[in-house]
Amino acid sequence: MGRFDGRIAVITGAARGIGFGTATRFAEEGASVAIIDLDETAAAEAAARLPLTDGAKAVGIGADVSDGGSVDAAVARVVEELGGIHILVNNAGITRDNLLFKMSEDDWDLVMGVHLKGAFLMTKAAQKHFVAQKYGKILNLSSVSALGNRGQANYSAAKMGVQGFTRTLGIELGPFGINANAIAPGFIATEMTDATAARLKMDVDEFRALNAEANPVRRVGFPEDIAAAAAFLCSDEASYITGQTLYVDGGAKLG
Ligand code: NAP
Repeated sequence: MGRFDGRIAVITGAARGIGFGTATRFAEEGASVAIIDLDETAAAEAAARLPLTDGAKAVGIGADVSDGGSVDAAVARVVEELGGIHILVNNAGITRDNLLFKMSEDDWDLVMGVHLKGAFLMTKAAQKHFVAQKYGKILNLSSVSALGNRGQANYSAAKMGVQGFTRTLGIELGPFGINANAIAPGFIATEMTDATAARLKMDVDEFRALNAEANPVRRVGFPEDIAAAAAFLCSDEASYITGQTLYVDGGAKLG
């Protein structure tokens, strides 16, 4: 018996990184999974690698979460191909880091478009199914950067926005049997943080080692760390938790 037997989960930006780690964990626990990512081939390849349990299905769908038409078509496909939707993880993300005085309007709009507008559009498309069936789980990816991070005015604002969005979803959707929570990861070893290393002209291993050293638990995080928390928050064990943001960061922002 898995916690997600018979459940259908949609995870955006899940062709790799935290999204794929979460999709893997949900599949291991019995879910059927739709992987949504910009590139349909990458999404389909990732879906084919999921460790599905008996009777569960997976599909990979190409969609841009910042585009309303693309989102509506993707959610309609999930419902048609997998038979419904019970869990939504808004994970797709990008960075366009720069100090404020060098940050372009495009850098600002792109980051807001994927993180904030993307979460809004996906949630709006999914909630009508959730409300009709009086059941749904929404999980949004925030970040420790929500608390402020040099070079990330756009990303930080978007990630704190995600927390406000999550609280409001908790209030509005709670009466319909829907839980909405967020996870704010610290440093997680993925292509996103590898790209940061490249931008800082640092070796990936050296960058990870520096971040591990500065962390109270003396290691970096991995997609599996976020997936474990995501599985709990999207399970029925967490049905009395809503509107919350859980920091999964090895204590990075404690002191
Ligand atoms: P990642 O490895 O860069 O993966 C992000 C995925 O999202 C990529 O496959 C990317 O596709 C996809 N994507 C980007 N824009 C999209 C769009 N408009 N529509 C659909 N998919 C899109 O990132 P990650 O490290 O796993 O991060 C996942 C989430 O966790 C993000 O929201 C991130 O902000 C958050 N987070 C990460 C960390 C960390 O340390 N890694 C820390 C805190 C929070 P392409 O490759 O085609 O662009």
